[in-house]
Amino acid sequence: MSAPLLQVTNLHAQYGPTKVLHGIAFEVKQGGITTILGANGAGKTTTLRAMCGMVKTQGEVRLEGQRIDGKATEDIVRLGVAHVPDGRGTFLNLTVEENLRLGAYTRKDRQQVQQDFERMYGYFPRLKERLRQQAGTLSGGEQQMLAVSRALMLRPKLLLLDEPSFGLAPRIVQEIFEIFGEISRTEGTSMLLVEQNASLALKLADHAYLLETGRVVISGSAESIRNDEAVRRSYLGY
Ligand code: ATP
Repeated sequence: MSAPLLQVTNLHAQYGPTKVLHGIAFEVKQGGITTILGANGAGKTTTLRAMCGMVKTQGEVRLEGQRIDGKATEDIVRLGVAHVPDGRGTFLNLTVEENLRLGAYTRKDRQQVQQDFERMYGYFPRLKERLRQQAGTLSGGEQQMLAVSRALMLRPKLLLLDEPSFGLAPRIVQEIFEIFGEISRTEGTSMLLVEQNASLALKLADHAYLLETGRVVISGSAESIRNDEAVRRSYLGY
């Protein structure tokens, strides 16, 4: 079995004096989709922010075996980690095209960057129609598509997705999650997905962890977590 792409061991994180993560461990396999589930305030967003150097941590975060904890966000991005933050994180006063170009700012392979624009329009044709529109004028679903595309323009090894379903109509969520599956299958991009919508996340992911107040309380294959009595009762509602 190949070594995991991302391996996190004994990770602690805090905001000032407030400790939020208490020694969590998890991994994302090469080409795999891992989801971290949990209620409001469990520490999911903090976990993603810790992967890209945006919060003070202790413990180890390894990407392809190399320590990335303690590195600056920009260096982590250059190593191939792209973050789609909660609240989407598009530049609202820039156009769709400008946002996508920014996503590729670390890349030198201009011709391939150009091809990647087309690749994104293939996934999300609506973005092509709105190329010159300011991101702030897009619908919520289109902004999420743009945020994901912008992250993919980096050609990341690991895509960090923070609540991509948040505030979107079920039909749009369905569409976006199908594209995540397609990107994973066709491009082998590994993903770490944080979601409150557990049932949706467990359909997409192959592995899952349940976080409660900064601790991993259950982990396993997505299928086993889906069948876990406690998860079903508390997070799946059946
Ligand atoms: P949600 O779905 O509500 O975003 P979450 O599981 O993503 O929840 P986090 O956002 O990681 O949880 O928050 C975990 C804890 O850290 C919460 O108690 C929150 O109040 C606290 N917290 C988050 N951001 C900060 C901050 N910048 N400063 C201080 N405390 C924070």
